Amino acid sequence: MKYNYLLLLPAVALAKAGALALCLLSFEVNAQKPAKPNAADLHQAIKKLNVLGTVLYVAAHPDDENTRMISYLRNAKLYDVTYLSLTRGDGGQNLIGSEISALLGVLRTQELLMARSVDGGKQMFSRANDFGFSKNPEETLRFWDKDAVLSDVVWAYRQVKPDVVINRFYHDKKYDTHGHHTASAMLSVEAFDLASKTDAYPEQMALTQPWQARRQFFNTSWFFYGGQEAFAKIDKSTLWPIDIGTYLPLKGKSNNEVAAESRSMHRCQGFGSLSSRGESIDYLDFVKGDRPASQDIFEGINTTWTRVEGGEPIGKLLAQIDLEYRSDNPAASVPDLLTAMQIIKSLPDGYWKQRKLVEIKDVIRGCLGLYLEATANEPTATPGDAVKIRLEAISRTAHTVQLAGVAIHPGLFDTLPNFTLTLNKGWILDKTVLIAQEAAFTAPFWLQKPATMGMYSVENQALRGMPETPRYATVHWNLSVNGIPLEYETELAWKTGEPAIGEVWRPFEVLPPVFVEFTEPSYIFTQKEHDVSVRVKAGKDKVAGKIMLGKLSQPFELNKKGEEKTLTFRVKAENGNRSTTLNASAEVDGKTYSSRLVNIQYDHIPQQSVLLPSTTNASWLDLKVRAKNVGYYAGAGDDIPAALRQMGCTVKVLESKDMEAGTLSQLDAIVVGIRAYNTKDELKLHQAKLFEYVQNGGTLVVQYNTTGDLVVDQIAPFPLKLSRTRVTDETAEIRFLLPESQVLNTPNKLTTKDFEGWVQERGLYFPGEWDAAFSAPLSANDPGEKAADGSLLVAQYGKGHYVYTGLSFFRELPAGVPGAYRLFANLISLGK
Ligand SMILES: [Zn+2]
Repeated sequence: MKYNYLLLLPAVALAKAGALALCLLSFEVNAQKPAKPNAADLHQAIKKLNVLGTVLYVAAHPDDENTRMISYLRNAKLYDVTYLSLTRGDGGQNLIGSEISALLGVLRTQELLMARSVDGGKQMFSRANDFGFSKNPEETLRFWDKDAVLSDVVWAYRQVKPDVVINRFYHDKKYDTHGHHTASAMLSVEAFDLASKTDAYPEQMALTQPWQARRQFFNTSWFFYGGQEAFAKIDKSTLWPIDIGTYLPLKGKSNNEVAAESRSMHRCQGFGSLSSRGESIDYLDFVKGDRPASQDIFEGINTTWTRVEGGEPIGKLLAQIDLEYRSDNPAASVPDLLTAMQIIKSLPDGYWKQRKLVEIKDVIRGCLGLYLEATANEPTATPGDAVKIRLEAISRTAHTVQLAGVAIHPGLFDTLPNFTLTLNKGWILDKTVLIAQEAAFTAPFWLQKPATMGMYSVENQALRGMPETPRYATVHWNLSVNGIPLEYETELAWKTGEPAIGEVWRPFEVLPPVFVEFTEPSYIFTQKEHDVSVRVKAGKDKVAGKIMLGKLSQPFELNKKGEEKTLTFRVKAENGNRSTTLNASAEVDGKTYSSRLVNIQYDHIPQQSVLLPSTTNASWLDLKVRAKNVGYYAGAGDDIPAALRQMGCTVKVLESKDMEAGTLSQLDAIVVGIRAYNTKDELKLHQAKLFEYVQNGGTLVVQYNTTGDLVVDQIAPFPLKLSRTRVTDETAEIRFLLPESQVLNTPNKLTTKDFEGWVQERGLYFPGEWDAAFSAPLSANDPGEKAADGSLLVAQYGKGHYVYTGLSFFRELPAGVPGAYRLFANLISLGK
């Protein structure tokens, strides 16, 4: 390329560290929406105040966690339960939208938080990046920085202070599973001893204390034994059985019903599940620590207040509060709860004091019917903006609640109203505050520095482990009830009334004044000069400056927040199959901004604003395409249409109404989106039309589907059986079994060079058996495995061509991989 580009990192500062380090609220979920506990919730919370036990559950991905076990330990046994998922699940597939990689990780993070808001657990992560399927732990720990991930597991032990640790997976290769899974258990076993040693990761000691967990288990299951039948036969006398089917009267549900609701939050993985009731035995296998002689996994662990020095009277008082609690008048418990709180406050500083103070204050707030809310008039603002804030406080029971002070941190506003809240009459204060110029952006913290394939970079120790970025503004309420001081902290949020839904909440976010993004995920230069378009979007009213693309620049001016403009740059390229990264940025008032904004919006999670670098891939390549009009039938979601347009094709997105011979016959080729045969029920009605289209001379390219839940019996016009075979090493050698094959030669002559620079994997769910009508021109395999020849299958059918491919075009094309474009061009050009 003739042009040079500056590498501009996002102008994003990290949130302040120290203040957050010991903030026990930091793992609470969905904090932006004030909780509204009912009398049964409060009774359960009162009972939990009298239980001092902690469990850490460790696995690798969102969905690995056994929600039945987590919910049982949290809701039936009333322990604190935290799920440590080493990754955010970035490398998986998305069943409900087009987010992949880092964006999928953001979506799955929120799904885990929603799952925890159902089962009551807390959520932590490590910095490990889910780089895709990994066949063994050795490979996993080569991509992950083992020491860094281990330090995060140790950090979780020290922060959560578990009595009992439960690993979802086994810590050696006894059971064949994903390498991330085995690695998660191996690291948890190692952390069990390290967490108590002050010389292990001593830098953490400024923010936490060493911790020795009492014992560790492995949450075994039938799926490690290849099936329920095989598991039924094994000797279980050495295992710890737990009936997780117990009934939870305060919830009106069986534990398995709560767990199913929690698991159903993993929607992008298609885990919506039916609930069940009744006895259900789950098993734990002992790993290390102090082995219990009885069936009680907490045997010998004191989970009463007597484990805390001076705690005995608190336990007695809480037991009495529990006994006398009246669901028709929770407020009657407030005086005793205040007394208990005062005794807890008088204890020497320690983990349980802090933990239980947070809990008891929440219980008191609920029993008082006290509602505290702080909302901004807009969901987002930029540094320097004036934001209108509304505070609301209302007490709905007869206790005397004094409002002694309200402050909005950091340093936004402070007032000392000092008056008594009138029973069931709201106190409302409207105030305009100024967002500081140096305010940090509140987009996901782990995406603010370039990541490697295996690791996210998070410098600030206090942020490591957190599920999401701490919010910019918190409101501190100083109250007193019956003369006893009571402080609460709430987050500034935004809410709106959606006519079709009702109240919708979003966290309040601080974002840049301007966003810059390329209009395409990647550019394919087939000529020396190419137009590259950059979209600039205003994050506030009246923003002007210039947009820069390498040495090129153009001025822009936008008047209204949300307004956008597209600027086109003419970019020149040199000859050769070369790729480069283009960076765009905006210069406004002497500052440079180089982030694009991605909103992730689904109705089961709070809307997410993600800042990603304004970059795109540009590849100059010699690309011939003979297909002009290409139809695209969407599956679970991929960016293939944009890639087809880059290749110079006209794309028609096909819907059910278009699936008739007249419309289809005008298309040179039809591409079916990933997992369409798993997700689009109506495809079974169109299958005959698609085959007829091929028979009459069309070209049909079907991308990968998973083996389960296919909507048709016959996915191809000839017998073809899918398997779970993958090639996860993106550098795995590709062998040309049929070098003369048309798809390897026409119109683009391919060589093994075209398989260089692929990302994440070669492909997945390759067919395992196929009819002799298919030809299989390519072969590949992961190191040490037998050859897999089903990655690309081509068959002549009637006058046309049918192609089935598990190659990961949905990853390679958006990433701008030149060889993937050349191969894909050959596929859609078949028969032309
Ligand atoms: Zn997993």
